Amino acid sequence: MLKLWRNYCNETPNYVSNLQSRYGRIGGIIINYQIFQLAERTALKSPMNQQMSAIIFRGDEIINTGFNRWLYIGRRQIRSRNGTPYSIHAEADVLEDCSRKELRNASIYVHRAGNKFARPCNCCMARILRAGIMEDRVFWSGENDV
Ligand SMILES: [Zn+2]
Repeated sequence: MLKLWRNYCNETPNYVSNLQSRYGRIGGIIINYQIFQLAERTALKSPMNQQMSAIIFRGDEIINTGFNRWLYIGRRQIRSRNGTPYSIHAEADVLEDCSRKELRNASIYVHRAGNKFARPCNCCMARILRAGIMEDRVFWSGENDV
């Protein structure tokens, strides 16, 4: 049994029970299981300890992918005054070059490598909603252990 997605609105989760199946019925909508695989591959590109990705999609169409990373401007890594490097969350990364038009009726799936818990932080959730993605189209990995 695979536990994957949960709808932000705390609806009863539905699970993909067969890894080979192309579609899982999740939170009342059909999501392409290939998005999950893409999310895992994308998260593994992250240089950070908690490897995260975010995929924006509409139906079977992938609109953009992103992952969390350190902040660089050119080749220079940017740090705060106390030396802590700044990081860009996967959700901010994926939204950065999407137009409002592209985001219309789109969904976002936020994933942590290994299918671990990946609920967006409040700052990212606010960005997602402000960008025009509807609350019931925000999904993330790993909330439920089955
Ligand atoms: Zn965040």
